[in-house]
Amino acid sequence: MTTIEKNLAEIREKIAGAARRTGRDPREIRIVAVSKKVDPSLMREAITAGQQIFGENYMQEAKEKIITIEEKAQWHFIGHLQSNKAKDAAYFFDAVHTVDRLKLANALNRYAGEAGKNLSVLVQVNVGEEPQKEGVATEDAEELLQSMQGLSNLSIEGLMTMPPFYDDPEKVRPYFRKLRELADDFASRGYFAGAPSFELSMGMSGDFEVAVEEGATLVRIGTSIFGARPAGDE
Ligand SMILES: *Cc1c(COP(=O)(O)O)cnc(C)c1O
Repeated sequence: MTTIEKNLAEIREKIAGAARRTGRDPREIRIVAVSKKVDPSLMREAITAGQQIFGENYMQEAKEKIITIEEKAQWHFIGHLQSNKAKDAAYFFDAVHTVDRLKLANALNRYAGEAGKNLSVLVQVNVGEEPQKEGVATEDAEELLQSMQGLSNLSIEGLMTMPPFYDDPEKVRPYFRKLRELADDFASRGYFAGAPSFELSMGMSGDFEVAVEEGATLVRIGTSIFGARPAGDE
C-alpha cells in the first residue's frame, strides 16, 4: 500500500465515522483532493487509489496538470478566481467553488456557453466576515444568488466557505453550521432547484470531520493526503 492509498483509506474511514455519528449516509460526502503544488505522479497514485476529484488553486499550474494527467478525473477550481481567468476556468474545469461576485459569474456563464457545457458552481460565502478573506458577505449572498438565476450555462449547486482558522476544530463548528443553515434556507426557497445536486463545500485536513458532522458534501483535503506543501505557497 502506498502512503497516499493509506492516507485516503484513513480519511474515508473518518468521514464514514462522522457521517454515521450524525445519521448521514457516507456516500453523500466526496473528497476533493487538494493538489496545489503536488506533483502529477502523486496525483496519479491518488487516482489509482480511487480518488476522482482534484481541487486546484492556481490556474497556470492547474492547466498544465490537467493536460498532463490523462487518467479520468474531475477538476474543481477552489482558489481565488480573477475574471480574466474565467475563460480558462470554464474550459478546463468541471466546477468552480469560489464564485463571489456577479461579474465573475457572468464571465463564467459566457465562457461555459462558448465551451458548450454546463459548469457547476458554488457561491463562496465569507461566514466569518473576515475583511481579508474572499467570499461574498453573508448578508449579500442572497442578492448574488438572485442575480445569478438567469445564467443558463451555470448549475448553481450550493455554497462554499473558508472559515476563520483555529487549531481546535470545535471552534470552527459554528461557522460550518452557519453555512449549512444559510444553504438550507436558500434551498428551501428554491435557489438551487435547477441543479442536479446540492453541495456544501467545507472542511479541510484539520477539521473535515466536524464539517461532515455539520453537513459538508465536499471536503477539500490536501495535507492529509499528500503531506505538507512547501512553505509560503498559500
Ligand atoms: C489549500 C486549500 C485546502 C486544503 O488545505 P489542507 O489543510 O492542506 O487540507 C482546502 N481549501 C482551499 C480553498 C485551499 O486553498
